[in-house]
Amino acid sequence: MRILVQKFGGTSVADIDRLKMVRGKVTAALDRGYKVLVVLSAKSGKTNKLLALAGRWAETPDLAEVDSLLSTGEQASVTLFSMLLRDGGIKARSLLGWQIPIVTDDTFGNARILSIDDAKLREAFEENDVLVVAGFQGVTREGRITTLGRGGSDTSAVALAAALGSCECEIYTDVEGVFTTDPNLCSTARKLDRISYDEMLEMASMGAKVLQIRSVEFAKKYGVPVHVRSTFTDNPGTMVTQEDSMMEAVLVSGVAYDKDQARVTLEGVPDQPGISAAIFQPLAASGIMVDMIIQTASRGGVTDMTFTVPRKALADAIGIMESVLKSVGGARVVSSGNVAKVSVIGVGMRNHTGVASKAFAALYRENINILMISTSEIKISCLIEEKYAELAVRTLHDAFKLGEKPLDQAS
Ligand code: ADP
Ligand code: ASP
Ligand code: MG
Repeated sequence: MRILVQKFGGTSVADIDRLKMVRGKVTAALDRGYKVLVVLSAKSGKTNKLLALAGRWAETPDLAEVDSLLSTGEQASVTLFSMLLRDGGIKARSLLGWQIPIVTDDTFGNARILSIDDAKLREAFEENDVLVVAGFQGVTREGRITTLGRGGSDTSAVALAAALGSCECEIYTDVEGVFTTDPNLCSTARKLDRISYDEMLEMASMGAKVLQIRSVEFAKKYGVPVHVRSTFTDNPGTMVTQEDSMMEAVLVSGVAYDKDQARVTLEGVPDQPGISAAIFQPLAASGIMVDMIIQTASRGGVTDMTFTVPRKALADAIGIMESVLKSVGGARVVSSGNVAKVSVIGVGMRNHTGVASKAFAALYRENINILMISTSEIKISCLIEEKYAELAVRTLHDAFKLGEKPLDQAS
């Protein structure tokens, strides 16, 4: 049995006309001899609406109940689409996360997949040509419904492709593939034919929401080739795949941005052993993800410690830092929610110098002040004022000529 996994995102399932286009993609795969496992998202906007609804019913809604509520968005998509397929004479049925089951841990709102029972799926394929599985959801061992974090249907799809040994996982969305930067923000953004798992991981972690980070982690771990492409055209998209020497020849592959950033500074804390631990341990204990960290040079035995957190964690982080200041001593806590991170990404950076200085010079030409910098082997990130985020993305995209096809790939 040859199984192909196809995932369709929120805009692709927004109404019946689009679902008919989805049916066309599924039918084409059936015609090529595949059994098809379709993963669907909730229609766009639905998950946000359900979240807002939960917020109206309770001041602090129970997280397990919120997940059960959110899962109904995907439930509506898969049941309706199964009806549409059956109406077109295709043997199909819907499956919710708990019916398979897709077992997760109990981190409600951001659960991790622990296992997928592929036996149930293979059995269901005996009687059906298409299985329509609800993305974004799973179930704990105790039987409570969970969700996998925003954008989690990508992860459902790649995990199902890995479990079933699908030859590739097709991710259908509202753009033609993975671009050098967000094509909705930069008109010269260019579609990439291929991108390595590592570059895609950095792009996703740095804010490119075209794929959820965990879906790329899964794909890399299990070697699943992921084909990101458009629901609305037949053009080939972008293959997310193993790195090869051609990819390394390209210095920079993309620019990403993330506005979900906030900055906190503790001014005048004692410069002595144990201070970093005193600051970062309580943040970790509260589940707050810290990203960039800078400690300024010591002056008269005191120093400033600055770090970034997701914007929604800012109020909690400030509260925790106020109590840290009381115990370790220090002048004050200052913060800003109006910051954004722009990142330049490329595996070619491993073997080349000068990328950072070129990025800094480009931002300087536009008079954009860099507040913080962080680097990895294949990425450079700069924290800047949020109001300059779009300008910074276009500036960096131009500086590295990402709109032009690299010479060794031009045909
Ligand atoms: P879906 O609902 O299909 O899951 P998403 O909205 O989650 O779609 O992701 C697709 C969006 O990702 C695009 O509309 C685009 O604005 C955004 N995006 C950000 N960075 C990139 C990039 N580098 N390449 C392609 N799309 C990107
Ligand atoms: N519906 C979920 C969300 O909006 C999951 C997804 O679309 O991938 O985040
Ligand atoms: Mg998405």
